[in-house]
Amino acid sequence: MPREIVGKGLRLSLRHAPCAHICRYCLITETRKGSSLPFARFEQLVHRFHDWKAAERRDDLDIGVFVGPSFDYDLEILKGVARLRARRGGKFQILNLGGLRIRQGDALATWLEERRAAGIIGLHTSLAGYGEVHDRWNGRRGDFDYQTAILRLGGERGMVRHERLFVTQNALPHFERLLDVLDGIPGEVRNRYATLFFYAGLATRYEAERITEEIRDALPERIAALRHGKFQDWRSEREWIPIMMQTADKPRKLVLKLDVNESNIDRLEKSSCEAIFAERERAYRESYRAIPSLAELCTRYGDPTSRKVYMMSRDVEGRWLDLHARETGVKAPLD
Ligand code: SF4
Repeated sequence: MPREIVGKGLRLSLRHAPCAHICRYCLITETRKGSSLPFARFEQLVHRFHDWKAAERRDDLDIGVFVGPSFDYDLEILKGVARLRARRGGKFQILNLGGLRIRQGDALATWLEERRAAGIIGLHTSLAGYGEVHDRWNGRRGDFDYQTAILRLGGERGMVRHERLFVTQNALPHFERLLDVLDGIPGEVRNRYATLFFYAGLATRYEAERITEEIRDALPERIAALRHGKFQDWRSEREWIPIMMQTADKPRKLVLKLDVNESNIDRLEKSSCEAIFAERERAYRESYRAIPSLAELCTRYGDPTSRKVYMMSRDVEGRWLDLHARETGVKAPLD
């Protein structure tokens, strides 16, 4: 029996701002592919989904957006993204620095000032190690210095920051040095957390860099203390398996993804939100039809001796689905 799929939300995405990084751990493929779809049409479609959710009292549904893959938006788009965030009851105040084009000197300072004036109060950086190690992971020489230079400029202007720090085997030897550098940057660190690579996208090629239980349990206190927030349960495959099996017969609840672009916008604009959501759910169910149940995947591909550490059970399942695809030629389902 294939696993039952239930959509718990919809994430509409627009590839509006191509990315200037080529991160080796990127979850998104084709980061340079942009869409020519005007943002206004995308925004209107998303507002329609929010209106539908409110009218139908679908409080159980989460409507989200991804406008990316980088946040290198012009000011009009930035305001549009803020309007969409407001529909979810949030504020768009933190700008992600991932994939920004290089700007220098006055051009960089002006860019930052304009964003502050538009309501951005802080910056988010993702760093995969210190110095050249980060540059290599992110595919751009000098990127570590660029990221920290922008954080410094922001800090000097009173902007807060969020820091996501990847823990990999090759980042660990200089991790404390990385923390020293970050501690030396002015400004309030509102959120600093350690993270692992998800098992997805390009990152699936770097399982050798994944830390093990032994490394996890021996992390220096300064690094271990950064494990908090949504993905703080760092468990090895052998630790995840019994947890996953407790709910293996339950439907998988997923946020369905919908890529909006110039080729499907006319059709989407003419369809009801209900029909679009039902169609996505059907497509996801169809993609799972040839996939064995979670228990069977586990029997075939699970490794109860593996001490490699993952942040989500879905990472472990993703590994099994890849092994299944390799063995049978059946494509991994939509995710
Ligand atoms: S910045 Fe983000 S979208 Fe761009 S390559 Fe890196 S991980 Fe991928």
